[in-house]
Amino acid sequence: MSGISVQCDGLVHIYESGGEDIVALRGIDLDVAAGETLALVGPSGSGKSTLLNLFAGLLPPSAGRLTIGGEDLGRMTERELTRLRSTSVGTVLQGAARNLLPYATPLDNVRFAQRSVPRKRRSDLLSAADLLRSLDLESVAQQRVQRLSGGEQQRVALAVGVANGPGLLLADEPTSQLDRDAREQVLGLLTRINEQFGMTIVLVTHDPDVSATLHRSIAMRDGRIGSEGRRGVQYAVVARDGSVPLPDHVLEQWPAGTRVSIEPDGDDLRITRRPT
Ligand code: ADP
Repeated sequence: MSGISVQCDGLVHIYESGGEDIVALRGIDLDVAAGETLALVGPSGSGKSTLLNLFAGLLPPSAGRLTIGGEDLGRMTERELTRLRSTSVGTVLQGAARNLLPYATPLDNVRFAQRSVPRKRRSDLLSAADLLRSLDLESVAQQRVQRLSGGEQQRVALAVGVANGPGLLLADEPTSQLDRDAREQVLGLLTRINEQFGMTIVLVTHDPDVSATLHRSIAMRDGRIGSEGRRGVQYAVVARDGSVPLPDHVLEQWPAGTRVSIEPDGDDLRITRRPT
């Protein structure tokens, strides 16, 4: 098992709903390195889940290019996408607990997810028992999933998502239903599989403690990348088309249409508002 990279070039996604086009992603340029851990943050409706669904191969890009582990998703057949999803990408989307086998136990759910892994690779995986132990699910490992609490089912879904050792783990709000202790266990497991196996991890989260644990956070705004955070510091990022998103607090004072002049100032730039 080792991490795989993701590259987005001008990625656009448009939903068609009731005869209308809804532009959910408006040109995303983003590289996620193999072994990197990334949080997608931002207000509701900004495009986080759509981006995660594209990474999962569940939605096609409307324009632009998406490359996962060096493979261009736009050129893959349905069969190749299915192979990618079952071998290289682990997904824990919202409501993922509903996709568990409800009459089976957590142990059987995890073993079921591991059955497609060739026997010679199985020794590289965390065992089902070890996975469940690290998420404090040992005591319920033999109970039917349908009898577990929402938080326990959420953790079983995560265990299933990482069970076959994917190179890329995608998870939408993986800690939303968890109390403090359970959240610590989830973060502990994610850190461990990243450090031990180099798994690349992309999470959608509203929880600042979760994003602070990851290498980098990307704040989405209206289908674009608004800013990037590293170790608690926020940066604007120059996009490949040369545009720079202004931080929210500046945008409040300088609405769209404001004219600015940009002058060199030593190694930096000075941006000054100009009268209309
Ligand atoms: P977030 O995850 O940040 O809340 P989403 O990716 O869910 O944002 O949504 C981005 C935009 O796409 C929103 O305007 C939302 O209303 C729209 N959208 C999401 N899913 C669909 C869908 N299945 N059909 C039509 N529009 C959708």
